Amino acid sequence: MDLEKIKGLGPSTIKKLNKLNIYNSDDLLTFYPYKYNVYVPNKLNDQNDILNINATIISDPKVYFIRKNFTRLTFTALVENIPITVVIFNRHFLKQHLTHNKQICLIGKYNKLKNTFTANDILLNPLTNEMIEPKYHLTEKLNNSQIHKIIVENIDKENLSILPKEYIEKYQLIESEVALKYIHNPKNQDEIKQAKIRIIYEELFNYMFKINYLKQKRNQENNSIIKSFDKEKLNTLINTLPFELTTDQKTSLNDIINDLESPKRMNRLILGDVGSGKTIVAFLALYINKLAGYQGAFMAPTEVLAEQHFKEAQKILSNLKIELLTGSTDKKKKKDVLEGLKFGSVDIVIGTHTLIEDTIEFNNLGLVITDEQHRFGVNQRKALQNKGKLVDVIYMSATPIPRTLALTIFKDMEISEIKSKPTGRKEIITKKYRLKEIKEVLYLCLNEIKKGHQIYVVAPLIEGKNETYSVNELYKKFNEAYQGKIKIETLYGKKSSKEKNEIIQNFKNNETKILISTTVIEVGIDVQNATAIVIFNAERFGLATLHQLRGRVGRNDLQSYCYLISDSNTERLEVLESSNDGFYISEKDFEMRGSGDIFGTIQSGEQIFKLANLKRDYKILLAASKDSEEFIEKNIIDNFQKFPEYQAIKKNLTFID
Ligand code: ADP
Ligand code: MG
Repeated sequence: MDLEKIKGLGPSTIKKLNKLNIYNSDDLLTFYPYKYNVYVPNKLNDQNDILNINATIISDPKVYFIRKNFTRLTFTALVENIPITVVIFNRHFLKQHLTHNKQICLIGKYNKLKNTFTANDILLNPLTNEMIEPKYHLTEKLNNSQIHKIIVENIDKENLSILPKEYIEKYQLIESEVALKYIHNPKNQDEIKQAKIRIIYEELFNYMFKINYLKQKRNQENNSIIKSFDKEKLNTLINTLPFELTTDQKTSLNDIINDLESPKRMNRLILGDVGSGKTIVAFLALYINKLAGYQGAFMAPTEVLAEQHFKEAQKILSNLKIELLTGSTDKKKKKDVLEGLKFGSVDIVIGTHTLIEDTIEFNNLGLVITDEQHRFGVNQRKALQNKGKLVDVIYMSATPIPRTLALTIFKDMEISEIKSKPTGRKEIITKKYRLKEIKEVLYLCLNEIKKGHQIYVVAPLIEGKNETYSVNELYKKFNEAYQGKIKIETLYGKKSSKEKNEIIQNFKNNETKILISTTVIEVGIDVQNATAIVIFNAERFGLATLHQLRGRVGRNDLQSYCYLISDSNTERLEVLESSNDGFYISEKDFEMRGSGDIFGTIQSGEQIFKLANLKRDYKILLAASKDSEEFIEKNIIDNFQKFPEYQAIKKNLTFID
């Protein structure tokens, strides 16, 4: 149900809810609290920082207007038979509720010497036993109790659950309306726990239902495009490459060839650590697909990366007609490319999400490759492959994810792993420095530059804020330190694409020695001559991000360095110092923070789970996976006729069909 249809919600409230990504009643009811404040009644001499004290008012409250926007309200209250003075600031509006003999609960600090209680808050009822207050992420002008009220008022309106009864019974889960009541309005901790189990199981069941359904559906496809091609030509190309393919690259390529030659449609994920050499595998797959007579498309998440792939592809596949298509391709050029794709004169198109626009048609699209697939939403990926019939699909990802987990949540794909790095690569030396040691880092960087190498510098922000480094500030500092003698440029998302491409090009040409940027360089950028990366406020980045950033260096046989600048003592940074292995790092990250970094920050904004955490809830994930598979097997024959609820889920699956 759309928010507009909910009674009592005006347009201005709806606008505020939209800011929280709430657009309908579903979003509203699944806008779960991110934490709960638990209040238990205290005694005056309890040692807590903040006390919750039941009290009886025994004087009329007085309000003092001290200055503009600053008031003090004070009264006397009886606590444990002692009269004490209560003070609260900026709550003069409470006065009318604070009547003689009323029982209330004071939340705040007690100063025994002055016999004064300074309250942060006053509850207008005494606490009898524990009281739990759900806390929501907020937006401007919508406070916690307002959003709570809107949610609670709507809980009974709609039943969102589609979980089959047999699994509710199997695990003795609570009903979904009850779970919603408990999660938004719990009376005790046990209710929260029960609600979470129910909701997490359902989230994971529904997710795995989709994955298992996709798998099932693909198994049933009786398609039959067998791509045959001239192997001699492929070998000739491989022999002209400037390097020998690694064993894992060869294995992945063979997996791809087998898929292309089989009548089954390919749906393959190439998982390979950063720098493992996935791009060349993609180019070779596109080449094979072309030899078999089909067009190919290669989609990257950023313009900078698309441009880089385009240039590289032109070099390696020099006898093919390859075009680039991004948001900044000019109109005339775009028109030409579109025509070339439609009539088949273009063999391969490389680009950003621009490739999925409706106006783009292919003559005979045979293969779609998505680089850094975690950066795209499912719908975006599907939209591209729907531009052809029975299109083969390859996803590439450097998301270091534990294999056991990958096998479950990517069950609908085949997986090839590229584990080994090209030979000759040296371990990147990673070291943490404190801010006051920055001189040493500057000196080390200068050494690299003297050797003719280049440096990346990364900051979390473009413009400065307290205690956090910014690109612009570092630009000044580095220029001062090197007295303007070294060419430095800055890069961030806000610059125009033309500017960005020029800056990258200058860096690639070794004209710029130091590139100071935000995390825009995180994915894909390949400049082999860069041998050091300095990351400021490293504690602010997740391990996966840091590992990806570090992957910008160490891309040939030169010794490379990663300097993490941070004053905080986090264990996480030590993990990076001790290992270069993305899979190990992800296991550690997984241990320390659950799935946060893997799925929490997906750029496409597609958040998969609201409550489930893949590490913490791994057992539930396995159960939900098994259950949903069994459910599909039992019911696939009559196509879920008996389960109208699952027709609804299937509707959600339209992007899949
Ligand atoms: P990623 O897997 O992170 O996308 P790339 O495909 O960008 O990695 O490859 C990183 C670098 O390694 C590129 O400069 C590429 O040319 C080079 N490379 C790829 N395969 C090999 C190989 N077998 N031997 C040597 N260098 C390689
Ligand atoms: Mg890459």
